Amino acid sequence: MTDAPSDDRAGRCLCGAVRFTARGVQPAISACHCDMCRRWSSGPFFAVPCARFEVGRGEALQVRETSAWAERGFCRECGSGIFYRITADGPHRGATNVSLGALDDQSGLHVAREWYIDRRPDAYELVGDDHEKITAAQVAEMFGV
Ligand SMILES: [Zn+2]
Ligand SMILES: [Zn+2]
Repeated sequence: MTDAPSDDRAGRCLCGAVRFTARGVQPAISACHCDMCRRWSSGPFFAVPCARFEVGRGEALQVRETSAWAERGFCRECGSGIFYRITADGPHRGATNVSLGALDDQSGLHVAREWYIDRRPDAYELVGDDHEKITAAQVAEMFGV
């Protein structure tokens, strides 16, 4: 994986009650088609990994454990999804993926991988074959979930 140098990006929820800076954003977008992400975002959940997530304005930021291995942050005022974070023990613990749609500047990023490709509904498909496509079985193999 040869990703370009990372950068810092500001973002916010729909109503503005939650504002943040994602530091060390990697330009590699992941799109997740799992059941939870689709319920949460009404489509694939597009997100980018960041090294550090700094809350600027966060009284309305609600964090909820949504599985045994991850939690999700969202604005309790307007419902916007803000991030997905790994909570399971191991090397990925604390890894935070910020919602692509919450970033003010979404330029210069590319889709690097699609998770749960076999859960994607027939109605839509991401273009291009230059990114990883990972099945539910492969996820189970990789993380034992
Ligand atoms: Zn909000
Ligand atoms: Zn997902």
